[in-house]
Amino acid sequence: MNNPFESAQKQLRDVQKLLNLDDNIVRQLMQPKRVIEVALPIRMDDGSIEVFTGYRSQFNDARGPFKGGIRFHPDVTLDEVKALSAWMTWKTAVVKIPLGGGKGGVVVDPKKLSLAELERLSRAYARALAPFIGPDVDVPAPDVSTDSRIMGWMLDEYEAVIGRKAPGVITGKPLSLGGSLVRDYATAQGAFYVIDELAKKYHLPKGTRVAIQGFGNGGSFLAKILAEAGYILVAIADSRSTVYREEGLDVDELIAHKKVTGTLKNCVGCESLPSEAVLSVPTDILVPAALENALHSGNKEGVQAKYIVELANGPVTPEADQWFFDKGVVVIPDILANAGGVTVSYYEQVQNATNFYWEESQILGMLEKTMRTAFMKVAQYQERYNTTYRMGAYALAVRRVAKAMKNRGSI
Ligand code: NAD
Repeated sequence: MNNPFESAQKQLRDVQKLLNLDDNIVRQLMQPKRVIEVALPIRMDDGSIEVFTGYRSQFNDARGPFKGGIRFHPDVTLDEVKALSAWMTWKTAVVKIPLGGGKGGVVVDPKKLSLAELERLSRAYARALAPFIGPDVDVPAPDVSTDSRIMGWMLDEYEAVIGRKAPGVITGKPLSLGGSLVRDYATAQGAFYVIDELAKKYHLPKGTRVAIQGFGNGGSFLAKILAEAGYILVAIADSRSTVYREEGLDVDELIAHKKVTGTLKNCVGCESLPSEAVLSVPTDILVPAALENALHSGNKEGVQAKYIVELANGPVTPEADQWFFDKGVVVIPDILANAGGVTVSYYEQVQNATNFYWEESQILGMLEKTMRTAFMKVAQYQERYNTTYRMGAYALAVRRVAKAMKNRGSI
């Protein structure tokens, strides 16, 4: 299986060649600045103690405090967390928000925990990390299988440890605890602005077909936003199945069906296929919105889409990425396509710091401007260097990070 941290390092080496970057800078960007590993003993409901492993990787903070989500998943590894923390560093730089990059994870299958066990685990993670995070130091947020409720528990635990209020220590909180409007659908909304720019640039007509792998926070909101904007959602998958309908799926009905049955399978009027079928159905745009390495050497040839928009982090392996480039398939990279989430997290922090809360329309206006500007800037770099959008985004981001490092006199 492809090691995501090796992919992240390879991407950096590629951009070093492209920009002829100073090796003294690049060597500093090959590893996280700090990695924290914690053992989390949790009292289970049956009275036994189970010890879970948690990580936090603080990759780079030259442009501002470390920033990045916390993932609860059985396949979490230190290398995965390190890769995700590197990508966060480039992502915050692509959208030019004054933050660095970090990421956290706990090796756990949250579906196997009771609600009380989940709360105890979330609080234990926040307690163990408390000496290493803070509004000006490192600011976590939700990621795969973590949500606003978990962020609320973590905030409460952190404030209990430090003995005062500090809502800016974590983003993606419930609104009642200082969360921001728009944050719940920000990643999808940001991706929508990017897809809209893509559609303008490549003259994609109304009724362009889209297939989405992953129907969680990112994928489900994006499906809804795209359907409302006139795109045809031909296929959507979760971890158990793909649902397909050539004329277009009814996204509201799918959301309701999944809520009631817990699965996409057997929705009325659509064909149920194996989960991985979503990657090879006839479509114009394919949006991987689940986990890393979804598109790799073993399945790349089945892809029929002409455009791939990475809503997930790291869903295309470097080898598949090169293959798509050679075939003329346009890949819009994660560090641009899914940057809407961290952008609104930044707005959440600004609201926490000023203790003044903005309206939805104001946040949407700022998000739109940020995402469209980032797309255009990345496209300029892509054209200037005649390269992929990924390399264009890396060139822009690594330049910005390197400039901050140089200005700090760190080399
Ligand atoms: P989530 O846990 O809400 O949803 C994940 C979805 O992927 C679920 O529907 C799950 O069933 C599905 N899935 C898992 N494995 C699958 C497989 N093999 N095939 C098909 N579907 C599969 O997670 P999320 O928050 O939507 O995050 C998804 C991706 O987007 C991750 O890579 C995450 O890092 C990235 N991301 C999320 C945010 C955010 O704000 N939520 C922001 C930036 C990036």
